[in-house]
Amino acid sequence: MGKALKLGNIEISIVTEYVTLFEKLETFLPDLKPEMVQQQRHWLEPRFLDPVTGRSIFSFHMYLLKTTYHTVLIDTCVGNHKSRKSFDHWHLRNTPVLDYLATVGVRPEDVDYVMCTHLHADHVGWNTVWTGTKWVPTFPRAKYVFAKKEWEVLQTRSQAGKKLYDDGCYEDSILPIIEAGQALLIDDDFNLDDSIWIEPSPGHSPGHVCFHVESKQASGLLTGDMIHHPIQITYPDLATAFCQDKKLSTHTRRRFIEQYADTGTLILPAHFPDPTVGYIRSEQAKFLFDFLGKL
Ligand SMILES: [Zn+2]
Repeated sequence: MGKALKLGNIEISIVTEYVTLFEKLETFLPDLKPEMVQQQRHWLEPRFLDPVTGRSIFSFHMYLLKTTYHTVLIDTCVGNHKSRKSFDHWHLRNTPVLDYLATVGVRPEDVDYVMCTHLHADHVGWNTVWTGTKWVPTFPRAKYVFAKKEWEVLQTRSQAGKKLYDDGCYEDSILPIIEAGQALLIDDDFNLDDSIWIEPSPGHSPGHVCFHVESKQASGLLTGDMIHHPIQITYPDLATAFCQDKKLSTHTRRRFIEQYADTGTLILPAHFPDPTVGYIRSEQAKFLFDFLGKL
């Protein structure tokens, strides 16, 4: 379940928890017009849009980065045994993701940093595991990097008894990390070392960040949920039904797409199915996504 690529000296593996039929595209992207799908259908089907049901196809995967200094996991998917109401396929999962990590040579104690683009339930799940009596950090030595802004919003909401977007993940996947003293709450100018730093990308959630990676003149951007589906590269103004601030998410997405088009920066999205990663290219004032091909 792990596929590796190289970015300078950084080794990147995509570790897939699962791939599924998700919401219908027009449900997920409320401003999507039928003619937009029609124009893009030739490349959307069957990889990103199921021709039979019209449902989008989503991958839930994490990125494993081995830099010169650190072993880093970015976005930890849905996790096992978590009680979730949002989607059936998130509820009480049981996927051998730790075995998948083992196949790419990583044991839980090898991970130095766990970094989350944001704190929604499908990006923090493997932060913790259930011992039978309580939730504990999955990666016993790791520091877990959370944007302070994002954490503050969740904490306030949790205290007010609201679980609309986090689906209980604050209590089972964030709080146990804080209580274990393993959280690193970061500001907008955080950089881990000279090869990984953050770029604030608010909108989908208030403290959403992208992770910029760079090594030997090669650069990449882990985009989290700033972009969910490749049709949003073609139509950057399409916000999802799940973006907390749709106007801001659209502004952020357009800004990033314009900034990174034609730069050779490898884009590493959180939910594009295989082949997942690629480059943004502009063509006559439009944007395209050139997938890297089979990894
Ligand atoms: Zn997500």
